Amino acid sequence: MLIAVLGGGLMGTASAFFLLTHPRVPKSLRVTLIDRGAIGAGATVASFGNVRRQGRDFRQMALAHHSLTLWNQLETLLGCDVEFRATGHIRAVFHQQALEDMQNFAKAAQMHGLDLDLLDQAELRRRFPFLSQDAIAGSFSPHDGSGNPRLVAPAFAQAAARRGLVIRDYTPVISVTPTGNGFQIETPDEVIGADLLLNTAGAWGRQVAAWLNEAVPLTPYAPQMGVTEPLEHRILPVVGVWAHKSEDVIYCRQVERGNIVFGGGPREDVALDPGHAKVNPMRTLNQIEALARLIPALRGTAIIRTWSGCEGYVDDMLPIIGPSARHDGLFHAFGFCGHGFQLGPGLGAEMAELMLTGNSLTDTSPFHIARFQRKTTVVN
Ligand SMILES: Cc1cc2nc3c(=O)[nH]c(=O)nc-3n(C[C@H](O)[C@H](O)[C@H](O)COP(=O)(O)OP(=O)(O)OC[C@H]3O[C@@H](n4cnc5c(N)ncnc54)[C@H](O)[C@@H]3O)c2cc1C
Repeated sequence: MLIAVLGGGLMGTASAFFLLTHPRVPKSLRVTLIDRGAIGAGATVASFGNVRRQGRDFRQMALAHHSLTLWNQLETLLGCDVEFRATGHIRAVFHQQALEDMQNFAKAAQMHGLDLDLLDQAELRRRFPFLSQDAIAGSFSPHDGSGNPRLVAPAFAQAAARRGLVIRDYTPVISVTPTGNGFQIETPDEVIGADLLLNTAGAWGRQVAAWLNEAVPLTPYAPQMGVTEPLEHRILPVVGVWAHKSEDVIYCRQVERGNIVFGGGPREDVALDPGHAKVNPMRTLNQIEALARLIPALRGTAIIRTWSGCEGYVDDMLPIIGPSARHDGLFHAFGFCGHGFQLGPGLGAEMAELMLTGNSLTDTSPFHIARFQRKTTVVN
């Protein structure tokens, strides 16, 4: 059996790895991973690296729990450290409405298997003294954390390559044609045949689906990121806020080398072709202000680099996961709406299960592409 995985970000590499390590892997299985660039160099490398269940849509929670279990096992599974650290995730509250949001989320989250520590102002100051004194409360998710976005997709790809994965990097796919019992995947140098095809083309997954007559209302956007000079290591957890408007969103984490990685605020527009996401310097200035309001000691810290990445946002803010509604043998996993980094390992295991057995590890029905079938027209 030949499986082609189109897109070598976290979703494609994790899927390839779990396909090749699945307990029911057929002896004849061959997997080819195709990317037009370097492995992991799309939205994945640009990620902030948040491995966060706190604040997540509850329909993704079962997948997120499974993914967290796998993040904790990655060093053993992949044979290298992708810098996953379960440091916890603290979200601060600055006003009454956000306090209610936090309390409502925490109550409902319990039913979905996520327990948060709710902290009043005194407890927040005691446990996280670096936070602004203006914060009135907070919620702490002790088992969430972060991973290194530069390391994880190449680590999955290399571990899969040791089990036979064929990697075609720097290979753009120009078109995909269904043949009745498989697919022909056209690249500038060759046509690759496959029995099964997995579309993990990220923000460009909409184009791949459109080639195969499946429409998805997906818009690419570019979240804005930055990193400071290294400082003495004082901030352990990932830090964020409960916010209503995108203007108020700010989050950061201090890496072990001391730099503070930060993001938040509105995203920029980005064109899928060529898909080069740019930073708007005005947004960086706003982020620096918001960062200093959240952690006053960071005021005046030098910013040494800013970046962005092209990510696919589906209109209902849920990813596309599961089999095609039109073609046997075609599967989709794209459009992760800025939340895919945490889901990556779990998604890979989920796709391997779906493609090799037809069963699901978690309920993926809310993410099926058929939800848009009668609502949109195909746009290439
Ligand atoms: C700036 C930024 C910050 C983020 N922060 C977080 C975070 O903190 N936590 C979180 O959970 N999520 C975060 N996300 C989201 C997360 O990074 C993504 O959801 C996830 O990485 C998506 O992985 P992917 O494999 O679907 O896409 P990608 O990594 O974009 O991979 C898709 C791949 O498909 C390839 N491709 C596309 N079309 C073709 C073609 N025609 N031929 C060949 N190859 C093709 C591309 O080259 C690309 O490598 C962030 C995203 C961005 C952009």
